[in-house]
Amino acid sequence: MPDSAEPSIFTRIVAREIPADIVFENDTIIAFRDINPQAPVHLLVVPKTEEYRNVSELAEGDPALLAEIVATAKRLADEHCGGDFRLIFNEGETTGQTVFHVHAHVLGATQGDTLAE
Ligand code: IMP
Repeated sequence: MPDSAEPSIFTRIVAREIPADIVFENDTIIAFRDINPQAPVHLLVVPKTEEYRNVSELAEGDPALLAEIVATAKRLADEHCGGDFRLIFNEGETTGQTVFHVHAHVLGATQGDTLAE
């Protein structure tokens, strides 16, 4: 579990305590638009459980859920940005991780654009 006893900001989105532009949801995963997009398409794919702080913990604890996140990222990329996507997991403060509830950033270009390196 996270260090904090407080629910993470993403758990609060799942609970509808904070508004978000939700693009996908099922029993285990939620996906929504990043509030501060770094690309024309910037989605976050998040397991509903906040048991895992980062992708290494998730890979160790529930590899099937990690695979489901990747499959969801691909489906969303098909819908939102023509199938190509960049998948980023920040792990640790020095990489800029600010939310310690594991999440995948899905970045994509819109028609006619390409992503910056
Ligand atoms: P991290 O830096 O990998 O931890 O990514 C956290 C991401 O969550 C950042 O890109 C933020 O812009 C995003 N974020 C934080 N709060 C919200 C929110 O309420 N809605 C959508 N995205 C958020």
